[in-house]
Amino acid sequence: MAASRLPARGNARSLRFLLVAVGAGLAIGIATSVAQGSLPQTLTPLSNSTGTWCLGAFALALLERDPRRAALIGFASLIAMLAGYALATELRGFPVGTSMFGRWGAAAVIAGPALGIGAAWLRGPAPLRAAAGVAPIAGILLGGYGGAWLHPADASVPFASRPLTEAGATLGVGIVVVVPASSCGIAETARIARYMAGESAGQCGPCVFGLPAIADDLELLAAGRGDAELLARLDRRCGEVAGRGACRHPDGVVRLVRSALDVFAGDVRDHATGHACAGHRASTVLQFPSAGSARVGAA
Ligand code: SF4
Repeated sequence: MAASRLPARGNARSLRFLLVAVGAGLAIGIATSVAQGSLPQTLTPLSNSTGTWCLGAFALALLERDPRRAALIGFASLIAMLAGYALATELRGFPVGTSMFGRWGAAAVIAGPALGIGAAWLRGPAPLRAAAGVAPIAGILLGGYGGAWLHPADASVPFASRPLTEAGATLGVGIVVVVPASSCGIAETARIARYMAGESAGQCGPCVFGLPAIADDLELLAAGRGDAELLARLDRRCGEVAGRGACRHPDGVVRLVRSALDVFAGDVRDHATGHACAGHRASTVLQFPSAGSARVGAA
């Protein structure tokens, strides 16, 4: 009798989790639409990046320990986000293109279950599976473009100031971007460095000259076209810029770049020896206020 009740109880709980995921997905989709155009410029990546939805689906799938049920949650939450976003956008009087349904529908079918299974594995007892659970993620950008990269293995670090600081990251402006393994963390960092170099107010030499030089080095590294001195030069330039601006703008960039060199260390070694990954040609998952700032990997 008791044995026959257990699966029924488990099914009821899974149904509750699924309903929670669909409800939360709808809310995230609606919030994304409403936030677009209303958030301050520095927070727009929160409403425009694919990472926000992927992180949402991953977090909701953490409700389930069973990989099959978590895969369903990953899929259903992404579909719900898409439905919520489309509904809210239409109600706000903006048209929703069919291409968006195609793109995100495909992402829900392909990435949703993968994110769900990864989340279930992360909760499981097997350390190797837990590591594999976050394998679809290349890195996690915390604190916005003046923040720091976090290794996927640190995905379970509590989202609070102290634990993040201990992990070498920062809450910063509160923005989280999950970068998939199909992207290149070095190329994304180069795009951010180039964008941030253009955001200088042009008052201090280390910032005016240092940040573009750092962006140059990162773009060469991302493309696998660096010379033998590139990594040493990049490290030296970071040291020359850090702490020498009248404000902390360059310090944030240096922190981000140094964290990238650490989190993507394996990729850095490959790129530095001319073996750039295919991801450096992928479209960016980041959002920049001005067109043209994301040059790396552009056709
Ligand atoms: S360090 Fe700050 S004040 Fe100096 S140029 Fe850069 S952004 Fe401007």
